[in-house]
Amino acid sequence: MSPTDTPLGAQAGVSGRASNKPDDPAPRPNPSRQAKRTASDKPDDAAPRPNPSGQATAVVFDVQSFSLQDGPGIRSTIFLKGCPLRCLWCHNPESISPRPQLMTIPNLCTDCLRCLEACPTGAHSAQQGHHQIDFAKCQTRGQCVEACLDGALTIVGETYTPASLWQRIEPDLHYWQLEAAGQSGGITFSGGEPMLRAQFIAEFARLAPGPIHLAVETSGQAPWSAFEALDGLVDLWLFDYKATGPAEHRRLTGQDDRLIMANLDRLCASGAEVILRLPIIPGLNNTDQHFAGIAAVLRRYPRISRAELLGYHTLGEAKTDRLGLPKPAYRGPSATPEQKRSWLSQLRGLGASNVVLT
Ligand code: SF4
Ligand code: SF4
Repeated sequence: MSPTDTPLGAQAGVSGRASNKPDDPAPRPNPSRQAKRTASDKPDDAAPRPNPSGQATAVVFDVQSFSLQDGPGIRSTIFLKGCPLRCLWCHNPESISPRPQLMTIPNLCTDCLRCLEACPTGAHSAQQGHHQIDFAKCQTRGQCVEACLDGALTIVGETYTPASLWQRIEPDLHYWQLEAAGQSGGITFSGGEPMLRAQFIAEFARLAPGPIHLAVETSGQAPWSAFEALDGLVDLWLFDYKATGPAEHRRLTGQDDRLIMANLDRLCASGAEVILRLPIIPGLNNTDQHFAGIAAVLRRYPRISRAELLGYHTLGEAKTDRLGLPKPAYRGPSATPEQKRSWLSQLRGLGASNVVLT
């Protein structure tokens, strides 16, 4: 959801093969993570149904094991699929659909055409001996991925239960335990919009094997009931602020900012720890009006400990072709260090002294 996105081909360990075995040995619930349940703690509309084991599920498109930019210390960042926004510059196009998706890696394709026979829906074809794909015909069953011996096809997104996700990230446990040794570290949920899977995150947090710092990076575009479902479970909110004013927010992201700002207001009033994340996209929101809006938000909410300025970069652009998606509405060069320093200085000049570059 932010410029700290996933590099191409970095979907390590995420394949089309289901791993959410309901009978996986689940970690024991952590009594310190037994959050209050509220009357409004109900699954949101976009949430997948619980699997037969009764646990919530989520589709994970990446796990970054040594993340240094998504909260304090060394962290495991878990990226969930599904997003209600359509930011013009979206860096993670594979995060928007809530479902697993087929992705090609064209430079690995040898035109062997094994996938044509394997695919039951006719999504693969050949033109003058060269492999072609019609993504509209793909039902993401994965037979072509199995048939492709060259690694030119992959499924982005794998369904997990909270217990199976703990098993997936368990090898990183020693990083998070640095916190116990006086250093920070932990787990961050990002996306997409992870708050669409609040019930999943809540169940995951309650299974923590010990005290682990939990952060959630959110656009804020989720019902307040989702935030309530995580009351007492999340240590830090990384809250995006992308545009100033409802009309401008709708122009840049497809949704106005009323729900987002109401959620930010309630989060700050609740005493939650909040860091504001500021993606600045040259030519879109590097405007005087937006910078004044950022400064105003930081004045209004002294509870926000810091704001992190994130410069646009171009890593997401090639992914749209590989997923068969329309090209992004915005394409531009990555932000230069000089641009970022200039934005920082402009914000500081407006009194926003707690803005930092990441
Ligand atoms: S909020 Fe959603 S649409 Fe916007 S950049 Fe993040 S993933 Fe992409
Ligand atoms: S099976 Fe793989 S390598 Fe062969 S044509 Fe299909 S995508 Fe290309």
